[in-house]
Amino acid sequence: MNPVPPVEQAPTAIIEQMQALEQTISGCQKCALANGRTHAVPGYGNLHTVVMLVGEGPGFEEDKQGRPFVGRSGQFLTEMLHSVGIRRENVYITNVVKCRPPDNRDPRPDELAACSDYLTHQIALINPRIIVTLGRFSMARWFPGAAITKVHGQVRNIGRGRVALAMFHPAAALRNPQWAIEFKKDLQLLPKLVERAVKANAAAIRGEALPAGVPHPGDSDYQPVIGVPPATPPATVSASSASPLEQTDADQLTLF
Ligand code: URA
Ligand code: SF4
Repeated sequence: MNPVPPVEQAPTAIIEQMQALEQTISGCQKCALANGRTHAVPGYGNLHTVVMLVGEGPGFEEDKQGRPFVGRSGQFLTEMLHSVGIRRENVYITNVVKCRPPDNRDPRPDELAACSDYLTHQIALINPRIIVTLGRFSMARWFPGAAITKVHGQVRNIGRGRVALAMFHPAAALRNPQWAIEFKKDLQLLPKLVERAVKANAAAIRGEALPAGVPHPGDSDYQPVIGVPPATPPATVSASSASPLEQTDADQLTLF
């Protein structure tokens, strides 16, 4: 099987900024969900990945362990990822709210709004090429006003060289056999997107024009992969921390 790239492959500055963000989230009191949590669940996974999966919010197990998708939904998600050749260790997983809503109720608009900047910050740090939305609340961020039964399986260009793939929530797939079939079908799109994203990143590192059909066709605001000095780096990522990648580092981008 493929080697599992350790998280340490991300530049140290990125790891440190993510750790600082995790600490902030762990002590966050910006919404009422802080009151009921055992642990905040900032997110977990490889910071040097092309794929970020975004769920809804921690459940019972996640709240207990401080890790996303470690309960029944998580087991299903992990198995489904494996079935398309993707290891969970190679991706980054987080949620739109970082603290567990009581009795797993839906997150409220004020809670989603209060927590939103943390996800924005995580995206800026990881700079994923592909964002997989799991469920309605994550979908609404990039597919506003859409109905999940209509847009699941759709891939949308969301700028900065990123695409979003809308999917059902794993818990919904576990409840509804038809949605489980759709979930599996939609997930089959992911390996192809990953392949294109990895090619695009490798080309960007070599300073080449981006190959046709990559997930950012003609995006004027394309955000180069870490290692290529960004024209306008996000405020949270210092430009000086981005040193040109060696060939061996470029090879590490071939995650799958
Ligand atoms: N459901 C979610 O949306 N996120 C988790 O982390 C676990 C279950
Ligand atoms: Fe803070 Fe988000 Fe937790 Fe609310 S859900 S307390 S905004 S980390």
